[in-house]
Amino acid sequence: MRALFLFTLFLIVAGPLLGQELRIVDRPIVWDSTRARLSLEYLEKRHGIVQPEPVIAPRMVVVHWTAIPTLEGSFRAFDPVELRARPELVNASTLNVSVPYLVDRDGTVYRLMPDSLFGRHCIGLNYMSIGIENVGDGRKHKLTKAQLEANVLLIRQLFGRYPIEYLIGHHEYLRFKTTDLWKETDPNYFTNKVDPGKKFMRQLRKRLKDLKPLGPPR
Ligand SMILES: [Zn+2]
Repeated sequence: MRALFLFTLFLIVAGPLLGQELRIVDRPIVWDSTRARLSLEYLEKRHGIVQPEPVIAPRMVVVHWTAIPTLEGSFRAFDPVELRARPELVNASTLNVSVPYLVDRDGTVYRLMPDSLFGRHCIGLNYMSIGIENVGDGRKHKLTKAQLEANVLLIRQLFGRYPIEYLIGHHEYLRFKTTDLWKETDPNYFTNKVDPGKKFMRQLRKRLKDLKPLGPPR
């Protein structure tokens, strides 16, 4: 009895230190008929793929940071269906950017839309990749330990659920330009990215090496 009591006490005190649990909260962005139509248009015009539904067959996870320091600000960036402020992207399509997962600085994961739906988050590779956005940036709001732990758990879950082979950081995506996976009809449409940085990807790959994820070509 005493041993059980001590063990219970140990779990209460040490439990949070033994490992973070994956907390996923549903917080859907607007996904209406306009978002569906713009997604199908993006698939056709940009990726050169004609299909009846705006869905993806996931083979890759792409990790990002939002470059916005708060959860609310980040959510507001993805929620609207149409893109307004970013002229370098609007010319290619007015579909707003989106991903299924947004990770807050405390490690809480918000599910913005189902994994299987098309999201615009990585030029050339949207049609086959699941995006994970992390609230933060590379300067004043560097990604946190809790975000790293949440990404590890979430990516592990996604690799278990889908036949995913690749894990990349957004800053690595242009290295796929020379591969058959790259699908973008305009060879001059691309942007240079730095998120989420080499350090975060090194830490993620170290923690997930048992999954043997493929990276970008060398
Ligand atoms: Zn990004």
